[in-house]
Amino acid sequence: MPELRAVHGDITTLEVDAIVNAANNTLLGGGGVDGAIHRAAGQQLLQACRKLGGCHTGEARLTPGFELPARYVIHTVGPVFKDGTRGEPDLLRACYRHSLELAQQHDLKSIAFPAISTGAYRYPPLQAARIAVDEVSSALVDMPSLETVIFCCFSERHLEIYEKLLEPLNA
Ligand code: ADP
Repeated sequence: MPELRAVHGDITTLEVDAIVNAANNTLLGGGGVDGAIHRAAGQQLLQACRKLGGCHTGEARLTPGFELPARYVIHTVGPVFKDGTRGEPDLLRACYRHSLELAQQHDLKSIAFPAISTGAYRYPPLQAARIAVDEVSSALVDMPSLETVIFCCFSERHLEIYEKLLEPLNA
């Protein structure tokens, strides 16, 4: 079983095969982690994203990482949280699963996720983290090439949530 780890910090600094971007449907950049990734990767990332022609919620697309330490960026679009009854959990699950599938297809060994949808898209952090950990740990069973999955937490609060959820898995 690959290693699942939570770290506190800025995802743009991580030296992994791929970092995941919590993008929007246009893939043309935005605020939060998306803005940080585009700033750190440079203009070429926007040019590469323009060619993709957008992305539906729950799907994922891959580009190079350009000036990032990460080799690739996997762009996925999380759901906007309304009340949890509009398909949000399944769409959030799909983001994690499709991102991992792309990583597996490209033979990547390490990937880092931000807490998709928990910023501007207002997904409650604990509910989102439960979905993230559950989906990643079940998807990885069929993905032997992946060795390390990092949950990159931008706040101490998120880090505590992930550490509690990962504890039983790493025991
Ligand atoms: P969304 O629109 O999917 O909610 P946001 O970027 O607004 O995306 O927020 C998603 C999560 O990413 C939030 O928990 C936010 O705190 C976190 N975040 C913002 N900047 C960074 C960064 N540089 N590295 C890692 N996580 C970040």
